[in-house]
Amino acid sequence: MSEPSDRPRHFIQQIIDADNASGKWGVWTERDAGDPDAPGAVGEQARARLGKPRVHTRFPPEPNGYLHIGHAKSILLNYGLAKEFGGRFNLRFDDTNPAKEEQEFVDAIIRDVKWLGADFDPKTGPYGGGLFFASNYFDTMYAYAIELIRKAKAYVCELSPDEVSKRRGTPTTPGTSPFRDRPASESERLIAEMKEGKHPNGAMSVRARIDMGSPNFNLRDPVLYRIVHEAHHNTGTKWCIYPMYDWAHGFEDSLEGITHSICTLEFENHRPLYDWFINSVNEGRTEDGSGAWGKRIHHPQQIEFAKLLFTYIILSKRNLRRMVEEGMVTGWDDPRMPTLSGIRRRGYTREALQALTEDVGVTKFDSVIDVLRLENACREHLNKVAPRRMAVLDPVKLVITNWSDGGASDRVEWMDAVNNPEDESKGTRKIPFTRELFIEREDFMEEPPKKFFRLAPGAEVRLRYGYWVRCTAVKKDESGRIEEIHCTYDPLTRGGDNPPPAPDGTVRKVKGTIHWVSADPRHSVHAEVRLYDRLFATEEPGKRTGNFVDDLNPNSLTVVNAVLEPALGGAGDDEPRWEDGIRRFQFERHGYFCLDKDSGGTSGGLLFNRTVPLKDSWGKESKG
Ligand code: ATP
Ligand code: MG
Repeated sequence: MSEPSDRPRHFIQQIIDADNASGKWGVWTERDAGDPDAPGAVGEQARARLGKPRVHTRFPPEPNGYLHIGHAKSILLNYGLAKEFGGRFNLRFDDTNPAKEEQEFVDAIIRDVKWLGADFDPKTGPYGGGLFFASNYFDTMYAYAIELIRKAKAYVCELSPDEVSKRRGTPTTPGTSPFRDRPASESERLIAEMKEGKHPNGAMSVRARIDMGSPNFNLRDPVLYRIVHEAHHNTGTKWCIYPMYDWAHGFEDSLEGITHSICTLEFENHRPLYDWFINSVNEGRTEDGSGAWGKRIHHPQQIEFAKLLFTYIILSKRNLRRMVEEGMVTGWDDPRMPTLSGIRRRGYTREALQALTEDVGVTKFDSVIDVLRLENACREHLNKVAPRRMAVLDPVKLVITNWSDGGASDRVEWMDAVNNPEDESKGTRKIPFTRELFIEREDFMEEPPKKFFRLAPGAEVRLRYGYWVRCTAVKKDESGRIEEIHCTYDPLTRGGDNPPPAPDGTVRKVKGTIHWVSADPRHSVHAEVRLYDRLFATEEPGKRTGNFVDDLNPNSLTVVNAVLEPALGGAGDDEPRWEDGIRRFQFERHGYFCLDKDSGGTSGGLLFNRTVPLKDSWGKESKG
């Protein structure tokens, strides 16, 4: 991962540098710097922050679905800036729409944000600013709406939602509403009635009185409040009018003292609205509170950056929700899903996401990233840290017919295997070598083509960390399927080493090395292994037919039986958990795998997910 100083500072860092130099946002004070008496890093940061320029960011998800890898970019960016500048980071639920929001999503989002390491909790996170809910600001927002009505900057409009959009006008003709010039007192009475539940959904709305002729349609008297007779996960039935995103968002930022309100590019032409709402509240207010309307409110700066998007992956929440609801996947955390819960369950690491988002950078131009970069980031990280283990997928038995030449035929020889060639400090482990072993069915061919360097009749291979073996016979069942491969071993090749030269000086060589596990029931561990492939078979799902379902990859999941070395037994209890509680491994020659959360569950069996194969083989077959 590159250090921040390795690369040019991106445009948001530059904006913050300039703000800090000019003192735009003032400095942290005892009121907002955090608890200086808190133990450890939390108190340390709070003390260090005092008197330094304020940088306060937030991540504001709507709890209407699970977070996806695009959101990770926003989280890591916002948290990363707070950390870089010694500031604070909030998690705020933008829960202004009761119809689509659920507690399940709130819980999942908190879990995912924490998993990414963006600790928003001021008790545990040195950069934590807190957990907030937009719905806790409904009273304040309502008061601001009344204020705008009194300032002749908002009105109650009795057009139906349909009529409102029909009367928005065209680029050359302004929009209209017969209600925009009604007396403030009338609007004030009506908004109170709306709030009291006297009117049905859609009967009227509160609109800002901005500019019906603006070329930016967002400014053509946007709706602030609509009537929604629906209970809310946080406020219950207290409200039946709910604020629109644009109206609510700036106030949420303002109330939390956010300095840099970072969002994605599609909000660029909403920025005038963001500013208009806050400026309108500030009209008639002064810094010291002596104005007719009191003290000015804080005015954060909205900054837009490009979304993170990938080939072969769908990220829009609406479509992800459809995939879950229509059973195209097993749930939001299906390991094939691009949700953070999905890729976590699949074995992806947060370090990989961090490296990738840093590598992609922060820009002003939307671009679609090759999904290979995501997969490679994961591979690169796991290669450095994943312990190596032997796992035989689709096994076939290998019997060493001369095993008794070296001693008792039921003897076990414990071989040394390297845990991680990238990290010597991880040492070695012992794996049992016995008379009967399993190897991959794919590693044997009765009639091999020329360049097949693995096992075949008469051929010799190296069993990694084991011995050299030569195939002498095969045993088949009635259908002709191979049941056993018979071999002899060379006792002089222990550990897989080369044998000493023959008396005449000739050196024997093998071209291939294959892996194996003991087939002795005392040692072998059986498991179900799930091999995942991309959920979509085309780069831009849905492009051809307009329906992404048509591009689902029918082979996105393959289930195989596997036999594993004993270290992986006991539901992996002997294996160290990673910091995030997941157990990840490299299965040699196959790729990276992790223990699934349902492993050892009701069925009792071990269950592994393939995170990524060792090398990318996507499309190789079709390309030839
Ligand atoms: P989607 O567009 O997938 O439905 P969303 O924008 O509705 O997601 P929100 O909960 O509204 O999801 O977004 C929370 C934050 O995440 C917003 O600031 C949004 O700009 C940001 N965000 C959403 N998608 C991406 C993405 N692909 N890359 C970077 N940031 C994103
Ligand atoms: Mg959105």
